[in-house]
Amino acid sequence: MTNPSLLILPGDGIGPEVMAEVRKIIDWYGAKRDLAFDVSEGLVGGASYDAHGTPLTDETMEQAQSVDAVLLGAVGGPKYDNLDFSVKPERGLLRLRKEMDLYANLRPAQCFDALADFSSLKKDVVAGLDIMIVRELTSGIYFGEPRGIFEEGNERVGINTQRYTESEIERVARSAFELARRRGNKVCSMEKANVMESGILWREVVQKVHDEEYPDVELSHMYADAGAMQLCRWPKQFDVIVTDNLFGDLLSDAAAMLTGSLGMLPSASLGAPMANGRPKALYEPVHGSAPDIAGQGKANPIACILSFAMALRYSFDMGDEADRLEKAVEKVLADGVRTADLLGEEGVTPVSTSEMGDAIVAALDASV
Ligand code: NAD
Repeated sequence: MTNPSLLILPGDGIGPEVMAEVRKIIDWYGAKRDLAFDVSEGLVGGASYDAHGTPLTDETMEQAQSVDAVLLGAVGGPKYDNLDFSVKPERGLLRLRKEMDLYANLRPAQCFDALADFSSLKKDVVAGLDIMIVRELTSGIYFGEPRGIFEEGNERVGINTQRYTESEIERVARSAFELARRRGNKVCSMEKANVMESGILWREVVQKVHDEEYPDVELSHMYADAGAMQLCRWPKQFDVIVTDNLFGDLLSDAAAMLTGSLGMLPSASLGAPMANGRPKALYEPVHGSAPDIAGQGKANPIACILSFAMALRYSFDMGDEADRLEKAVEKVLADGVRTADLLGEEGVTPVSTSEMGDAIVAALDASV
């Protein structure tokens, strides 16, 4: 049997720093669990622009299409702010998402007990929280036509179009139901069927996919504005939330902040199953390249490490090993190990990026 293949694209700023810690974890799995990955590494974003004059070369794009999963650090930085739009670092990331057709964006909001004080909500509302927002990523109002700013009479009008086909809704609904089966077996679908026709279709199609293919999963529907309220009031009522591109953009950011620091948040973007049954997949931390702390050893590597945990679970079917890695992170946090972004308590000295990675490896060692 061939090893699972992984393309690592560290990118810019703190990207390479946090990715170095993921490398330690990958090496640990090879040495201690006999799980070898075929890891290749490439350039993306500003790093690729510096080397090749483009934020993503065709070769790297081809490689991304041929591996089992891509793990990306972060792109961008002030050095590249004045580049032409077509070669800005973000274009590299957008090209990956577009050409791999990654239509389901998974944003977990998970609150480790040790960090529950970081949330702006009360501790009992967020402690132990573990929800997953599935946002449709490649269609909807950000892509629909007509769009633009037009002259109409003696003034201008700005137009964007919310547009969803049945097949676009079906495939993201399937992703949500599949995920729910591996978690709490509950999906809440959010739209605005009360005021939008696209919402009516969304609700009908999600219900149909449920009834025909996933009757064992508990399904509920909620208007997205009520969903936003419920997310702040009692987020633990949810397991998987599936929603469109626009509402998902807002709801996933709001949900993420329930849990505290940006340095803790992983994500996955999944596409259609490949010939081997694995979905096309790109895993990346939610945060950016953090130029303000780049090169100082201050970055929190946990978001990137948890992104790798998502790859273990969703690309490589190694849910037990993903649990192991998440538990190792939980233990390290419970032991009081903190990077600078997680400082709240008095008298705690922050550890460096690399010390956090080492602590997680030590916790993994203790788990076998
Ligand atoms: P950012 O996420 O890079 O940083 C926001 C704040 O959070 C900063 O104070 C930063 O120090 C802190 N932070 C972020 N990640 C952290 C970590 N792992 N550990 C500790 N602290 C962390 O967002 P920004 O400052 O708005 O953007 C900086 C650059 O990153 C820009 O060029 C932007 O375009 C790019 N960006 C890239 C992505 C991506 O690659 N997916 C996402 C967002 C922003």
